[in-house]
Order: sequence, then C-alpha cells, then structure tokens
Amino acid sequence: AEKILEIRNLTTGFLTDGGMVKATDRVSLDIEKGKTLCVVGESGSGKSVTALSVMRLIEYAGGMITEGEARFDKQDLVQKSQLDMLNIRGSRIAMIFQDPMSALNPVFTVGEQIAESLRTHKRLSKKEAWRQSVDMLRRVRIPDPEIRARQYPHEMSGGMCQRVVIAMALACNPELLIADEPTSALDVTVQAQILELLLQLKQEFRMSMLLITHDMGVAAEVADRITVMYAGAVVEEGTAADIFERPRHPYTIGLLQSIPGLEGERGGELYTIRGAIPPLSNIPPGCRFHPRCLYAMDLCRTNEPPLRRSLSGHMAACWLDDTGAEDPRPGNPNNR
Ligand code: SF4
Ligand code: MG
Repeated sequence: AEKILEIRNLTTGFLTDGGMVKATDRVSLDIEKGKTLCVVGESGSGKSVTALSVMRLIEYAGGMITEGEARFDKQDLVQKSQLDMLNIRGSRIAMIFQDPMSALNPVFTVGEQIAESLRTHKRLSKKEAWRQSVDMLRRVRIPDPEIRARQYPHEMSGGMCQRVVIAMALACNPELLIADEPTSALDVTVQAQILELLLQLKQEFRMSMLLITHDMGVAAEVADRITVMYAGAVVEEGTAADIFERPRHPYTIGLLQSIPGLEGERGGELYTIRGAIPPLSNIPPGCRFHPRCLYAMDLCRTNEPPLRRSLSGHMAACWLDDTGAEDPRPGNPNNR
C-alpha cells in the first residue's frame, strides 16, 4: 500500500552540558495512506520528539535531527527549509496536542480563530472565512455552531475546546494529522467521544493519522498499526492484532498487563513493570530495556538486539525472539 509517511533511522538529540543526548535513536516507522498508526510508550520514550522532529518543530524546542529521513509524500522533511515547513504545517500536515487551551487564544472567539487559520492558507473574504469556520464547528459535531462560534474558549468545556482545536487543524484539509495525547487531559467519557470523532473525521477528510498515546486502551480503540517505543527506540511494531494478541517484546507484554482490569481504575501507570524508564543521558548498554526486564540474559547487557521482522511484518527487538529476519527495509543501513 502507498505510504504517506516513511521515517527512517530518525535520530534527534539535545545538546546538554554533558554533550549530545539522544532523545530518539534510529527510529523507523511507516504510515499507510488512510490508516492510523499509534505510537505508544511511557513519557520519555521519544514519542513526542519523533512527532516534533517530523514537523521540524523540534528545532524550536532546542533539539536537532542528527540522522535519518522523514519522507512525506516522497519528500524528505528533514531536508526542507523552515520556510517550506511553514507551508507544509497546517496545510498538508496538522498537529494537535494534549492541552487544547494552549492551542487557543483566550482573547478571540473560537469562530475568529478558525477563520484566521483558514485565511492563513486560503485566500478568503472575511465573510467566507466566517461561514467556513461555522461549518467546521458543525463538522466536529459542536451543537449550535453559529452560537458557539461567537464564544470564547473559557466559555467552553475541555472536550468542546479540543473539538475546536480539531476544527482548526482540519480547516485546511491536511493529508496527515498528528495527534499527541489528544485525549489525555479529558474525562474518560469525553475521551471516548473525541477518539470516535477523530476516527470519523479521518474517513470524512480522507486523512492518515499518527496518534501518540501512553494508553494502550486508546491504541486499542483507534490503531491500524502500533509502534511501541522505549527509551528513544522502537522495540516492537505490528498490526493492532499483532500487538494485542501476540506481543513479542517483554516491554509490550508489560504495557498490556498494565491495562486495568474490570476492577482497576484507568491510569496507565505501569505497575507491572519494575523500575523506571532511564534518563536519556544514561541509556543502558545492550538492550535498553534490560535493567527492567524479567528475562534479561548476559547477552542483553552487552549487545543491542536488532529489530527482527516476521514475514507478516510484525517486528520486535529482543534476543529471546528469533522470529523472522533482521528488518530489511531499504534505507535502514545500520539496522542495529
Ligand atoms: Fe529482555 Fe533481553 Fe529481550 Fe531486552 S533483549 S527485552 S533484556 S530478553
Ligand atoms: Mg509526550
């Protein structure tokens, strides 16, 4: 199938007093057109850094891409100028974040903000921009959009504000939507509504989606494929069924066990995985998961396991797993 995004060996670092610290280490992932890829992992796993690197926003956060490619529609975004990226962001790739309030301006009505976003990318009269702005509110299922358009963000609930942010993001009909923890700040019932809305809009707007979450329950709701990241690297990747029904990496298995059962409360805390994610300045040698792994062997402490790929495309990086062969994707020279 045709790919909308192909990330290869993407490595992003931050310069610190102690030298360059890698926040992502040779990350490779693909998104097929029209599909949803979920990137899951704890905070500090490099999920957001990967997304910000693709958007080339990482430079504004003090990071730099030191290696790799991010091909969007066959063009490598890593090689683009920031001026080119300014055009691509918002019109061809849009991004939404956890906190809708940080994306909204408190002194303008939500209708004005969507209209402004439309006018940045399209030549529209004020009147036409307003009309389309109200229409976008309708498309994100906000009731009474003509009335809501005249309201300020503080007059709306968190869930309504996230719908407004989604309307702003989709106003220019992006081909790819990157959503970084889009429901994590919301109540559980509202979370489910927003996820459902995103799935419907993905169809209606014929988009592809990269959704970042720490919550395996969220991934279960929306993902076609899932990439599991740990401490800056991809440790497993497969279809949603691969990950949920036949996980191969001990970290993924731990993540799945952390999904609360019937009596448990939802929280996403990884109480079944001992220890904590290592600081990026101190990634363990060998398998980066070995200090927390119940199955660690001597080999794991010294040698980094390669990502191995089965015939079906399910990949995992673990010495215990001898399914398939090393990831043969082109443009993946060092392959770990
Ligand atoms: Fe555990 Fe070793 Fe597999 Fe790493 S390579 S996940 S330490 S068994
Ligand atoms: Mg994050």
